Amino acid sequence: MIDLHIHTSASDGTFSSQEIAMLAKGKGLRAISITDHDTVDGNEEAMKVGTKIGLEVVPGVEISVEWEGRPVHLLGYYIDVKNNTLQSTLQNLIDFREERNPQIIKRLNSLGLNISYEEVKAIAGDGIAIGRPHFAQVLVEKGYVKNGDEAFKKYLKRGGPAYVEKKRLTPHEGIQIIKNASGIPVLAHPYNIDGIKNRDLEHFILQFKGMGIEGIEVFYPLHNPQQTLQLKTFAERYGLCITGGTDFHGEQKPDIQLGSGFGALKIPYELIIKMKEKRKTDE
Ligand code: AMP
Ligand code: ZN
Ligand code: FE
Ligand code: FE
Repeated sequence: MIDLHIHTSASDGTFSSQEIAMLAKGKGLRAISITDHDTVDGNEEAMKVGTKIGLEVVPGVEISVEWEGRPVHLLGYYIDVKNNTLQSTLQNLIDFREERNPQIIKRLNSLGLNISYEEVKAIAGDGIAIGRPHFAQVLVEKGYVKNGDEAFKKYLKRGGPAYVEKKRLTPHEGIQIIKNASGIPVLAHPYNIDGIKNRDLEHFILQFKGMGIEGIEVFYPLHNPQQTLQLKTFAERYGLCITGGTDFHGEQKPDIQLGSGFGALKIPYELIIKMKEKRKTDE
């Protein structure tokens, strides 16, 4: 089994990439991918550890793009993590977070919550992509909310009183930086897109295929069996790779287990073989 969607402490996960590799090995996974938001920083460490312990590590990243006013997540697999354009574009997104985060602090302060950016940065530690989950953690620690979920519901969710928009690439830009870094651009968890309806999904996938995506994240903890089957059908119909992962964030999302999601997810290694075959024929 494999898990191709994992966050580390380089973004909003709570385990380092070394810890993730060890955990994955302990669970008997054959391959993983570190897909942090807006950074590829955890990849090299994971690959180094992976080589040592016999765990395949697929280089990855997750970026958010804006489509018709809504956020859509893209995953990039087999990216060259040293690619200059990829690195500078990601750095831009991180720089924007540095502008956005103090604005979130201002909003929280004006709502009467005593929280500073220093506290958020302290929670994020060596993290590169600091974001709302880190704010949520501070709010929990200071007793303003019971848990992260409440922090999002009351304050941080999109449209919530402390929400500040994030800079997002256009779908075209997002897809191109992944391709330009020799990666496979994949549409992440399609059922998570705000307001997406079953009947819109095929059209939506076709639009993104037209813009260059080469895969769909079919296996995902929140997809029910019908949704998984539906996405698999679309992937096969349109010649797209099938990927899958848990979106593991460690303690940040404690219900999600590495490799198995809510417990029952099984993502077959065969998906990796197919992705590699596709890369060969594209060469
Ligand atoms: P940011 O990149 O700063 O906008 O934060 C986005 C991250 O926040 C996502 O990757 C999720 O991990 C987390 N997140 C978004 N919405 C929620 C929510 N309603 N509850 C818990 N976590 C959330
Ligand atoms: Zn996240
Ligand atoms: Fe995502
Ligand atoms: Fe994710």
